[in-house]
Amino acid sequence: MALREILILPDKRLRKVSEPVKKIDAGVRKLIEDMFETMYEAPGIGLAAVQIGTSKRVVTMDLAKKEEPKSPQVFINPEIVWTSDETAIYEEGCLSIPETYGDVERPAQVKVKYLDLEGAQRDIEANGLLATCLQHEIDHLNGILFIDHLSKLKRDRIIKKFTKAAKRAG
Ligand SMILES: [Zn+2]
Repeated sequence: MALREILILPDKRLRKVSEPVKKIDAGVRKLIEDMFETMYEAPGIGLAAVQIGTSKRVVTMDLAKKEEPKSPQVFINPEIVWTSDETAIYEEGCLSIPETYGDVERPAQVKVKYLDLEGAQRDIEANGLLATCLQHEIDHLNGILFIDHLSKLKRDRIIKKFTKAAKRAG
């Protein structure tokens, strides 16, 4: 396993649309191992491959609380096939936009189909934090960040702050 660097706003690679995984080979399994290592180290509850610079449609997640045993989940080629009319608001953050949070309104329930590590087609009906997380991570696969769901004023302010910080870092 290898700890990978997490891309930070305004890195343009975060805006790339990720490619579907065609075959779950050793390379994809290694990518997933790296993603879990990087996600746990950060620490974060969800990570899309594009956040470590690999634009493949792979998402890792672990929503277990600190005192609970680890509960790693992986979603390959995830796709939202249904969303509820009912919505929910969660305060979201993102490893690619550190120490920045904002209330995002999304469908409260979603159905997602995806491939598991063995390449089997699965689906999951999610609500609560899992529903929000899945939508946040699937957004990443389409080059969308949670700040895109905020008002233009808030989004511009965040982008400006991170663009300045990136310039300072050279
Ligand atoms: Zn994110």
